[in-house]
Amino acid sequence: MPSLRCINCQTEFPTTSRIYTCSSCSGLLDVVYELNEFTGERLMSVWDWRRASPKAVDQSGVWRFRELLPDADESEIVTLSEGNTQIWEAPRSAGFAGMNRLAFKHLGMNPTGSFKDLGMTTGITQAKRLGATSVACASTGNTSASMAAYAARAGMKSYVFIPSGQISLGKLSQALDYGSQVLQLEGDFDDAMRLVREVANETPIYLLNSVNPFRLEGQKTIAFELLQQRGWQAPDRIVVPGGNLGNSSAIAKGFHELLERGVIEKMPKITIIQAEGANPLYRHWLQHRDQKESENFEPVPHAFTMATAIKIGNPVSWPKAMRALEWSDGEVEFVTEQEIADAKAVIGSDGIGCEPASAVTLAGIKKLVAAGTIHSDEDIVAILTGHVLKDPDYTVNYHRGTLSYSDKNGHKVELQSNHANAFTQIPAERTAILKALGF
Ligand SMILES: *Cc1c(COP(=O)(O)O)cnc(C)c1O
Ligand SMILES: [Zn+2]
Repeated sequence: MPSLRCINCQTEFPTTSRIYTCSSCSGLLDVVYELNEFTGERLMSVWDWRRASPKAVDQSGVWRFRELLPDADESEIVTLSEGNTQIWEAPRSAGFAGMNRLAFKHLGMNPTGSFKDLGMTTGITQAKRLGATSVACASTGNTSASMAAYAARAGMKSYVFIPSGQISLGKLSQALDYGSQVLQLEGDFDDAMRLVREVANETPIYLLNSVNPFRLEGQKTIAFELLQQRGWQAPDRIVVPGGNLGNSSAIAKGFHELLERGVIEKMPKITIIQAEGANPLYRHWLQHRDQKESENFEPVPHAFTMATAIKIGNPVSWPKAMRALEWSDGEVEFVTEQEIADAKAVIGSDGIGCEPASAVTLAGIKKLVAAGTIHSDEDIVAILTGHVLKDPDYTVNYHRGTLSYSDKNGHKVELQSNHANAFTQIPAERTAILKALGF
């Protein structure tokens, strides 16, 4: 039987206890599984067999791997057939970064357009198991879109706390359409996060931010599915954007569990990329990378990036991210707004596309190749986290040459559109069209 275990003091709790952090030391919790129950061979054969099964739980790219997921009755599982996302070769992106080849696994191809769905199927299923009838989260957008959809499927009430004016319309529109009650707070994400945790402690509302360990259990199947798609061959490196640091932590946990069970022989290096204005993990890691215990995490006040999904200054899961880096001998890097914008357009030019936060992966790989940290012949899978249509304003502004933001002092910073696909207005007339087409 799985149980909850504190990553600090190792205290264990049953998975039926409604807690988000350790009740003795406030440390983060892991869901842990007994080691001897299923061998690696057995897991691989059952999981491969299920890929061809017509049953709804087997068609889910999360619940297919249920031997290493929290217990749930099949009748309790709330699923939208999440997962099953493609891995694509990206030759132009590879060339841009100085790599021989590069592959993207596109989690933006999930039902609500981001990897958050993998965590919501397990999070909402756990809410149901605990008898909750309402759920809440703080969100930069995608968590709320996803939670709203899964809560609707489960017939639960959902509340989303969003920083006002800071989430893309695409994401807000999803939460509204799926019937969430949206609370726009006059504050930033870090304020919303603090407040939703307080509210969840005082009310019967179940909290579904990634501090909730059941969310991360779903997200760790990114590692399982990726390995399954590659015939259980691990890549050298996984590159992932870092915001609240739940996803990087979850992916590392997934690989680690398969390492312990002998499915893989070596951890891929977990490489976390942050935006320059929201890089608290990078700063912490530079100072504390060689220490076993690292207390005193310093948040970045007023974190900023146009990649709103990673605009987080005080990431909840930093201790798990540090563990992921230690397990895998990983790296942390940060990239500028300009680097993000250009990398996003290059990913688009491969016919793939993604939202701004996802593009930090390619920008980070380029930077690490230039620094000699990544070798051009490495086998890398980069994780694209969100769909290109989540934030169309950003994309159109880039290609139109009008992408800009205000810096800390209120000065307007205009980005260059180095990979713009410019578009112009012409008269509605045959000769003008032929001229524009170059004939
Ligand atoms: C949530 C999100 C992230 C950040 O993931 P964390 O788990 O918070 O580090 C990155 N990209 C997109 C598109 C997201 O929705
Ligand atoms: Zn503890």
